[in-house]
Amino acid sequence: MSRIDFQNVCKRYSPELPLTINNANLTIEQGEFCVFVGPSGCGKSTLLRMVAGLEDITSGDLLIEDQRVNDLPPAKRGVAMVFQSYALYPHMTVGENMAFGLRVLGSDKTEIDRKVKAAADILQLTPLLDRLPKALSGGQRQRVAIGRAIVKEPKLFLFDEPLSNLDAALRVQTRLEIAKLHKDMNSASMIYVTHDQVEAMTLANKIVLLHTGALIQERGSVAQVGSPMNLYHRPVSLFAAEFIGSPKMNLLHGHLVDAQEGYATVKVGEQLIKAAVDARHLKAGEQVQLGIRPEHIPLTSSGAGSNVAGHLQHIERLGDSSLLYVQMGEGQAVTTVKVEGSAIISAGTSLNLCMLPDQLHLFDSHGMACQRTVELPN
Ligand code: ADP
Ligand code: MG
Repeated sequence: MSRIDFQNVCKRYSPELPLTINNANLTIEQGEFCVFVGPSGCGKSTLLRMVAGLEDITSGDLLIEDQRVNDLPPAKRGVAMVFQSYALYPHMTVGENMAFGLRVLGSDKTEIDRKVKAAADILQLTPLLDRLPKALSGGQRQRVAIGRAIVKEPKLFLFDEPLSNLDAALRVQTRLEIAKLHKDMNSASMIYVTHDQVEAMTLANKIVLLHTGALIQERGSVAQVGSPMNLYHRPVSLFAAEFIGSPKMNLLHGHLVDAQEGYATVKVGEQLIKAAVDARHLKAGEQVQLGIRPEHIPLTSSGAGSNVAGHLQHIERLGDSSLLYVQMGEGQAVTTVKVEGSAIISAGTSLNLCMLPDQLHLFDSHGMACQRTVELPN
């Protein structure tokens, strides 16, 4: 029903300002749950508001179903938007708040009642239809705001950080409800904006990661587009590698010694480390960074990887897991290692960190990733 294409879209708020959106090219397929994610100020809301028709497009084309909509008014786009602040009318009941938009459009009363009832069912708001907003929790109010969007029966739902005002437990619960809503509305597409990589990973079919600051001007707004697992396993740049994953990917500075078809050898301090990547396009001696996620470093010595000695400085116990902060060689940043919560280990001890070639990423001096040469999950 509703495919969205951004073609070379740029946005400049005023002539003396740099581009807020630089050359965005992307396609959101019908029925997809697409998440725009990136640090604060990277232009997520701007991009979303362009789809809604609330923001002018400086150059480039925005297509909905192959039709150029740059100049189409918001009401004609078949979209409904849910914001961070739910802004319900305080003197209207839940039911009246949900019905209001349709009433303004002059819809038939029985039709309005049917749509409100259906939306209330989906969102489990039926017992609350006669309450005023002040008698609702934050999560319930946000559900009413989502209900207001559902009754419009849009082709496309737009969410701008809808969970940011909720506490941690409610955020998780409402996140599940939004995922379920997407399933229940099987043909509607959703675009969801968040700065939270966990929300992006858990909700999206497609993640659009946006650059921030100088990277917007240098490389364009879009840093990477892909499935959650694609961004996790195959970040195309340091920026993407560091944004996705918590705790962050570890980075080890070194230089390239040798590059073969299936692997490269990097010297980090005095240590040679092999990574299963194709770095043949780089020059020997180039400054590079090896990346490895905290959850991918076994502490057992193994012939399959490079064994690096480290000193455990500090340990954080999270219950299900523990985070170890390990100093390897002189001048290297502290490496984070994630282990089982039951692991018996104490600060001050010496450890062996096993760097497995298949778990390593390699970034060149411009921060671009080399192709990994192992078979990875999608
Ligand atoms: P995000 O939603 O990713 O936090 P925004 O899209 O709100 O980012 O903003 C992106 C950039 O554009 C920010 O630097 C912001 O200051 C700027 N910006 C947003 N709206 C305006 C505006 N109306 N006029 C000028 N600059 C703006
Ligand atoms: Mg925003």
